[in-house]
Amino acid sequence: MAEAATESPNSPDIRIVLVGTQHPGNIGAAARAMKTMGLSRLVLVAPEKAPDRDTVAMAAGADDLIEAAPVHATLAEAVADCALVLGCTARSRRVQLEQLDPREAATRALTFAAQGPVALVFGRERTGLDNNELQLCHAAVHIPSDPAFSSLNLAAAVQVLSYEVRMAVLGVPMPAAQAPATQASQEPREGLAPHAELEGFFAQLADALEEIDFHKGRTPDSAMRKLRRLYLRAGLDSAEVRLLRGVLADTQRMAMLAGRQKLR
Ligand code: SAH
Repeated sequence: MAEAATESPNSPDIRIVLVGTQHPGNIGAAARAMKTMGLSRLVLVAPEKAPDRDTVAMAAGADDLIEAAPVHATLAEAVADCALVLGCTARSRRVQLEQLDPREAATRALTFAAQGPVALVFGRERTGLDNNELQLCHAAVHIPSDPAFSSLNLAAAVQVLSYEVRMAVLGVPMPAAQAPATQASQEPREGLAPHAELEGFFAQLADALEEIDFHKGRTPDSAMRKLRRLYLRAGLDSAEVRLLRGVLADTQRMAMLAGRQKLR
């Protein structure tokens, strides 16, 4: 990975992830929007065109963020280590995810950033994020724009979210890293499970549901979407993911034994 860009002292562990950006100029404008608000972690996922002169011109001095930006092939890869992933979408209420406004998103992002990396994800200029990409997100963020003309320029959307993160940071009297965890539990908890661990759990859950014939001929998509939403909302830590995977493993073992007995 490239060297980290220059960072302001209280910069929270919040990355801005741009997926499939079509105009290199927008990458520069997004970097500028971030840097003015004290954010430094830019991540690119499969940009249509590599950063170019337009990028540098629009960055207006924020090119250190672009030089340091990792480039990933997929969104799943870019957020694998994240404790919280929020997907920004111009389309209100069309997604089956909890929906936050930018202020709620910024507060939640800052809270989670004390426990692990957080990703704010932005889609393509023409088509936004696709359904599979949104499925990877814990919640959707919608800037409450005029429904008749709801889509902001990509970098403008990054500016709105970065500004709200800035306001949340300025409202927190201590560095975010020392902020108390706001999880309801009184017991000390392991850190939130990174995204890749949750994806491993979802893959096993999908297998187990097949093995116990949960879907009974229906397509698994709708049930899996609802289950993903439920478990993503729960804010599971790594120990809880291990526990759930243990339950699944026993369920799968029992299903296999039952299957064998039927064959006898
Ligand atoms: N036509 C696309 C708009 C893409 S705009 C669509 O229908 O989704 C590029 C990106 O900017 C979006 O993917 C989203 O991440 C962000 N964005 C634009 N307007 C937004 C809004 N009102 N709320 C949240 N994010 C927005």
